[in-house]
Amino acid sequence: MSASAAEISADVHESERLGALDSYAILDSGQEQAFDDIAQLACAICDVPVSSVALIDRDRQWFKASIGLGVRETPRSEAVCDIAIRTPRQPLEVPDLEQDPRTPMRPLDAAGKPLRFYAGVPLRSPDGYALGVVSVMDHQPRVLTPQQRDALAALARQTQHLLELRRHVLHQNLLQQRAADAERLEHASVELQRRNEDLQHAATHDPLTGLLNRTALAQLRQRPDEMQKLEAASYTLAMVDIDYFKQVNDRHGHLIGDEVLRAVAEVIARSVRQDDIAVRYGGEEFLVVLIDTPLSAAYVVAERIRLNVMRAPLPFPVSVSIGVAAGDPAQDTPEQVFERADQALYRAKAAGRNRVAADDTPRL
Ligand code: GH3
Ligand code: MG
Ligand code: MG
Repeated sequence: MSASAAEISADVHESERLGALDSYAILDSGQEQAFDDIAQLACAICDVPVSSVALIDRDRQWFKASIGLGVRETPRSEAVCDIAIRTPRQPLEVPDLEQDPRTPMRPLDAAGKPLRFYAGVPLRSPDGYALGVVSVMDHQPRVLTPQQRDALAALARQTQHLLELRRHVLHQNLLQQRAADAERLEHASVELQRRNEDLQHAATHDPLTGLLNRTALAQLRQRPDEMQKLEAASYTLAMVDIDYFKQVNDRHGHLIGDEVLRAVAEVIARSVRQDDIAVRYGGEEFLVVLIDTPLSAAYVVAERIRLNVMRAPLPFPVSVSIGVAAGDPAQDTPEQVFERADQALYRAKAAGRNRVAADDTPRL
């Protein structure tokens, strides 16, 4: 048998009702004085031993506050309040539950004694969904006076205000929490980025001299933007090697050796342009990529480096030998240019050191 249109619309209505109830985030929340006070007032106003502020969940009624019931929840099928919310705009008053055909359920008090009288005023969300009931119960059949009815209705309205206020505060807290979370996230990501940059810097720079290291040089080969710069025009490679550096270490110790390395690196960094690339290639070897620079101009730069190293403020004279070779992007790979610069350096060493030698390989 298929479900009737009325049943389907009741189902849709119920799921929206549960959605509305959910927005209060009140089910299974802790005890709150304000709701306990409502239950207390309900008993006092109506002169009954039992009262509750009940919320009707999918399969249960759950008590935000109660007096004389002794349970936190009961199955929905046993809840008179579930009958009450079927007419959200009207109170339900049942003088004697045992006599009324609408209420087949038999509620009990905390001591297990049957309750006969029930009066409940539904609690509604601003868009009209019944959320629960403020109710009073008694062991004897009875009726409320008109004043008690009005007062119970007023108490239900106050409970609705309380629910809205509570939801508003929760929502505000949630917004504040979200804003704080977003700020923390922003902080964390800035910090992460900073650490990444530190790591990237550490991975690509030589800690002793601060120049780029070989890893950075290898990465350069994989970066199309940098390679494009190299391939746009002729460039020159200069291989710089400190002369008799082993003797510096042997005579003056490793620490002084390090100082010499730093001084030479500083001279190199100072002698080239911003766009040029200076790398600590090995122990006491440096590679400089002079972008968009012909061999003749590179030779002048190399000479400047050589002279500046000699003038460096060190406790003893230090010199470097430099080999320079130009690369024509149209016909040379960077490796071929490197090889020729290295050969030129070898010739500078062989010719007595402290000099610049230019690549003299015959070109096609
Ligand atoms: P040449 O004139 O032929 O270049 O001789 P050299 O002594 O400079 O060359 P060699 O390759 O024989 O020695 C290089 C030395 O550099 C050996 C090594 O101990 C030293 N060295 C390499 N890295 C460092 C470093 O980080 N600090 C110090 N103090 N010494 C280093
Ligand atoms: Mg050397
Ligand atoms: Mg060397």
